[in-house]
Amino acid sequence: MPTILLIEDETSIADMVLYALKSEGFAAEWFQLGHQGIDWLRNHPEAALVILDIGLPDGNGFEFCKQIRRFSEIPIVFLTARNDEVDRIVGLEIGGDDYVGKPFSPRELTARVKAILKRTSVAVDSGAYADCAFEIDTARCRIRYIGEWLDLTHYEYLLLRTLLRHPERIYSRSEIMDRVWPDPGDSLERAVDTHIKTLRAKLRKVSEHDNPIKTHRGLGYSISGSVREA
Ligand code: CA
Repeated sequence: MPTILLIEDETSIADMVLYALKSEGFAAEWFQLGHQGIDWLRNHPEAALVILDIGLPDGNGFEFCKQIRRFSEIPIVFLTARNDEVDRIVGLEIGGDDYVGKPFSPRELTARVKAILKRTSVAVDSGAYADCAFEIDTARCRIRYIGEWLDLTHYEYLLLRTLLRHPERIYSRSEIMDRVWPDPGDSLERAVDTHIKTLRAKLRKVSEHDNPIKTHRGLGYSISGSVREA
């Protein structure tokens, strides 16, 4: 049973969401403060998805989303009551996956949750995704490229997984640093370039002429190609 983390300070909304999730067969954990939810998530990497309110007593949901992204790629759905917040979410600068505007129906929210989980979770139907260039096996921390499992170091795996989160999106070196080397001072931005280089060499071994990782001068890196998590 997938566990959903709900971070929402308003009891009446939380009750409604928890009831809807449980009646759809999800397990749920609820916290009223952002930092409580994040503490819990650090100890429960098996959680399937986060529902995150933006106006929280101990901070802003966008900031909490950034904190979560430093250690987890878990799908995040925002709950928002304001249109100007929607603009920021839709830009997805913050790394969220979707949003639901308040007031919302519980059915609408659970439908979004199910759609996102379907998009990002286990699909062990071999052959069905043969046209996907990349396939991520998060349980075993490995990535397949055009049908071949890549022999990646831990950092190469994290780096490739970061880029594959949103194909075509440009990630700056510092964003990549934040996600791949969360311990600051541990490494230099130059390390990103070095790992991109070794990663490209490994991708080239599988397919000599494709070069899915692109350099955007002065901006960072992006990747192209379809991706599937398995
Ligand atoms: Ca709130």
